[in-house]
Order: sequence, then structure tokens, then C-alpha cells
Amino acid sequence: MANTHESASLKEALDGETPLQGSIGGLRVGSLTDVGKVREINQDFLASHPAHGLFIVADGMGGHLAGEKASQGAVEAITRALTPEALASANGSMVDLIQAAIQEANREIVQASLQDSSMRGMGTTATVAVTLSDRVYVGHIGDSRAYHMRDGEIVQITEDHSVVAQLLRARAITPAEAQRHPYRNVITRCLGMQMEIEADTFEVDWKPGDHLLLCSDGLSGLVSDEEMMAIATESPEPQEACERLVALALERGGYDNVTVVLLAKES
Ligand code: CA
Repeated sequence: MANTHESASLKEALDGETPLQGSIGGLRVGSLTDVGKVREINQDFLASHPAHGLFIVADGMGGHLAGEKASQGAVEAITRALTPEALASANGSMVDLIQAAIQEANREIVQASLQDSSMRGMGTTATVAVTLSDRVYVGHIGDSRAYHMRDGEIVQITEDHSVVAQLLRARAITPAEAQRHPYRNVITRCLGMQMEIEADTFEVDWKPGDHLLLCSDGLSGLVSDEEMMAIATESPEPQEACERLVALALERGGYDNVTVVLLAKES
């Protein structure tokens, strides 16, 4: 069943100010997470805070309760660090602020897994986007993705931290082989893996008419980049696009949890 996933504590922190969809400050936003057709638990977690331009997708891994604790914990720690005040005063150091937030989330997850043996080995991806008027700042670790769309083109702006992506970069395998590779789910960097981690951080240009899509591999593994762009740009509302994208992943098997956040900068 489709459900929009947000914790009570985050809702309280936001004081009901931000709906998870709709238009705020020239931005239209949609988001959806779904457990999929096979798994019993949704270990993906998302945050969508249009009022201060903060969006996060996290895909947790680990045994019973651990994966969802990792992804939710990461999203909450990053949201706590990237307050509206912190974002407003970051100026030139936005990517450093995002890096610090991701590292703080990592420390919390590592500590939680050291303190509780049932949480041992838990980890999560995190893809974070902060939108300002003409820039998007991104922090990323793991194999969730961010895509930027403009003028009929879609570009994956994050690099997957996965074994398969490394093999692809080294041209050791073809994209078709990557789809079926036995290690396609093995990631090389994530939160919770070790005490010191480094996220990729960068910024991209953000113009009226652009779209930004964040997703977990439950979507990108089953829906092509071209299909994502077609659905994202043809749907009148981002929320409708998110519903269509998740429905397509489910139609194709929904083997994994599926999560998508879509932003459209109004023209
Ligand atoms: Ca996944």
C-alpha cells in the first residue's frame, strides 16, 4: 500500500507548516514512498520540506527494525542539522553545512549500532537536496539518486557508490550486464559503515522549468531515466508524477521499497 512516510516527531518539529505536496515559493513538490510488492517492511524514508527547500531520500539496510531505524534516523538527524536558520545563514558554505549534517547523521547511526547489538550492521544511503532561488545544493552517499531535468534532457547528477557503478566506470561490464549483476545491490559507501565517511557534495544550476528528482534504487532499478523524465515533465502535478512512477515500479515487480521526491521549479 502506498503511504507517505513521515515521523510524528518531524511533523511536530514542522508544526504543520508544510504539506508534503503543493506549491511553495515557486516550487511544486510531490513525494511518495511505498513498501513495494515483495518486502514486508519499508526501509526507505523521505523528508520533504518545501518551506525551507530541504528534501531527503534515505534507503536503509540491516536486519529486523535496523534498516528502517537507520534511514529514519539519518533523515531526522540531517533535518535537525539543516534548520531553516542554518540554511538561511550558510551563504557560500552550503555544501560544507550539508557535509557536516550527513557526517553527524553517520556518527549517530554508528553509535546506535555500537550500543544495541540488534542494530549492528545497519546502514543507510542519503541523498539530500537544498534548493535556493537559483541553485540546488546536493549531498549524497550510497546508491539512491538525484536527477536534474532541463529542456528535454535528464542527467543523473549523483554517482552511485556501488560495486556495479565502479565496474561500469572501469568499463569492466556493460550497462546490460550491470542490470543483472549479482553484486548490483552491493554499495561501497553508506552511513553507518564506519566512523569516518565522506559524502559527495556539489551544486547545480536551478532555472524555471527545471525538475529535480530524488529516488531510491527501488525506482531507478525498474524505471529508466527516459521514462522518469517523460512522466515527470508530462504530469501536470509532481504528486501525480510520483504516483505514476511508483505505480510503474510496482507494475514491473516492485521487488524493493520505492521512494521518489519530485521538484518542479515554476516557470
Ligand atoms: Ca533499496
